[in-house]
Amino acid sequence: MTARDPSFVTMLRETIEGEVLAEVPLARFSTFRIGGPATMVLPAGADGVETALSLARRSGIPWFILGLGSNVLLPDSGLEALVIRLGKGMDRVRHEQERWWFGAGLPAPLAARRTAAAGFAGLHKMVGVPGTVGGGVYMNAGCHGVEWSEVITRVTVMDEAGHATVLEHSAIPFTYRWSGLDRRIVLEAEVSLTEADPEVLRRETNELFRWRQEGTPFNQPCCGSTFKNPELPPGGHESGLSTAGQFLDAAGLKGYTVGGVQVSPMHANYFVNVGGGTAADVRTLIDHARHVVAERFGVTLETEVKLVAPDGRYEQTPPR
Ligand SMILES: Cc1cc2nc3c(=O)[nH]c(=O)nc-3n(C[C@H](O)[C@H](O)[C@H](O)COP(=O)(O)OP(=O)(O)OC[C@H]3O[C@@H](n4cnc5c(N)ncnc54)[C@H](O)[C@@H]3O)c2cc1C
Repeated sequence: MTARDPSFVTMLRETIEGEVLAEVPLARFSTFRIGGPATMVLPAGADGVETALSLARRSGIPWFILGLGSNVLLPDSGLEALVIRLGKGMDRVRHEQERWWFGAGLPAPLAARRTAAAGFAGLHKMVGVPGTVGGGVYMNAGCHGVEWSEVITRVTVMDEAGHATVLEHSAIPFTYRWSGLDRRIVLEAEVSLTEADPEVLRRETNELFRWRQEGTPFNQPCCGSTFKNPELPPGGHESGLSTAGQFLDAAGLKGYTVGGVQVSPMHANYFVNVGGGTAADVRTLIDHARHVVAERFGVTLETEVKLVAPDGRYEQTPPR
């Protein structure tokens, strides 16, 4: 049985508090606008997540937790796995002075704006990073020198067996764009921020947002950075280049197109869906870009975007 089996969908609808969508095109839930059909459940609370996990487990069906789909490449054939997307009720915000709690389904730019408006600094620089709080914590997303790991104090997660636990920051092995929280669902994040002048934060937030819009293809379907910045030897690369975008640009890849997917002429680490792009196009473009950069500079690029297989598992960037 797969999650798209009508009997499984019926069972979900009869049991779960929250929406259940059948045969929903995942392209609607991905900033790349790519991805075939799936069964999606949008639990309204932790109990609903637990029930979804339990039903999937008992039916031998894998599951996949999706945020705002801003850093995933979902398969053209859709997902056989059950897609869990935290629904309304799992996006609440509360705070006591500098300590804030965010439901993991809350869009992270909202968390950035709300905390800045209340006069708290720490998350405000992430105003231009789309995605949910849960996706941000899981990816340890960041920009302008700030990342989630710097503000997190505790994270409530649920494991595959449906047990919820509160993890202290020290128990999470955060590193660059990685939290190590695999196969756990982030339910809530507790962060500690710093009091600051709301007017200064408002100006800084607006400035950073404008920079984002001008420097990246922000309004085109894409998934943000395709590749992580490469690890380079001490002293850097002989070319003087350091970021993935710089290597891709220097390799002449800006504008290179496969099917409906193009290396953005604006920022080479952003691949954009210029119309009718497929996951197959993105994968071909990723392979080509990695090949060209490796040949030209001897640098291996690893994907930041998560390549998702039909059973919901991640696929590694193929070794070079
Ligand atoms: C225009 C644009 C600009 C971007 N700029 C940046 C940037 O500057 N810096 C940066 O770091 N990223 C950037 N990104 C990438 C992306 O926004 C972040 O990685 C974001 O945190 C992903 O969140 P999401 O909710 O969209 O997660 P998704 O893309 O839906 O999922 C990403 C991963 O997180 C997992 N996940 C999602 N929710 C949960 C949860 N509740 N619990 C556990 N795991 C979960 C998913 O299973 C998946 O493995 C950008 C993307 C776009 C489209």
